[in-house]
Amino acid sequence: MKNKKISKILIGTNNLGKLKEITSLLPKNIKIFSTKDFDLKSPRETGKTFKSNALIKAKYFSKKTNLICLSDDSGLEIDVLKNKPGIYSARWGGKGSNFNKAMERVYKELDKRDKEWREKKISARFICALVIYWPNKKKIYSVGKISGKISRIKKGKNGFGYDPIFIPNGYKRTFAEMKKSYKYKIDHRAKAFEKIKRFF
Ligand code: IMP
Repeated sequence: MKNKKISKILIGTNNLGKLKEITSLLPKNIKIFSTKDFDLKSPRETGKTFKSNALIKAKYFSKKTNLICLSDDSGLEIDVLKNKPGIYSARWGGKGSNFNKAMERVYKELDKRDKEWREKKISARFICALVIYWPNKKKIYSVGKISGKISRIKKGKNGFGYDPIFIPNGYKRTFAEMKKSYKYKIDHRAKAFEKIKRFF
């Protein structure tokens, strides 16, 4: 069956960095709503995977607004930390979702494990699960990943979250040192979006 193109959508996130990035991925002719337009708080993320948390958000926001909703759950997995922070990436920033605090926690956990970690390659990856949820309960999932390593120091001012400490494979710069428009083309969210762009 041919997919009917989506002409209006709610972006189900209260994270401004994600909202900007997802807006830039969507075609310009689509009517975009944000959670701010409806003054909606985010639901509790009780899932155990990126996919299940993305579904919780998409379903919740779609039900509240009766709109088709696109939600994202994403995070950083670090091999030597047994894939943490993973689905807890936002929560490592504490109550105020302080990204600086979250990055300090990464450095603290790496120091605890191995004081010499800065001399080694600390493999990591960003993962993004996207879910589109329709008011008729139809849903589709897509997952994108980008591999890289943790930077010895925080570098760059662009982006959000862990961008200043993540260097994707094949590059010397952190995500936060790249122009946003460039990062948006290569990252985990762009890869997940590529697989569902036929809906738009
Ligand atoms: P949640 O999906 O809203 O629970 O939170 C995802 C968290 O993962 C964000 O708050 C960031 O800390 C981190 N994160 C996800 N994607 C990115 C990214 O593209 N750059 C930097 N950090 C990210």
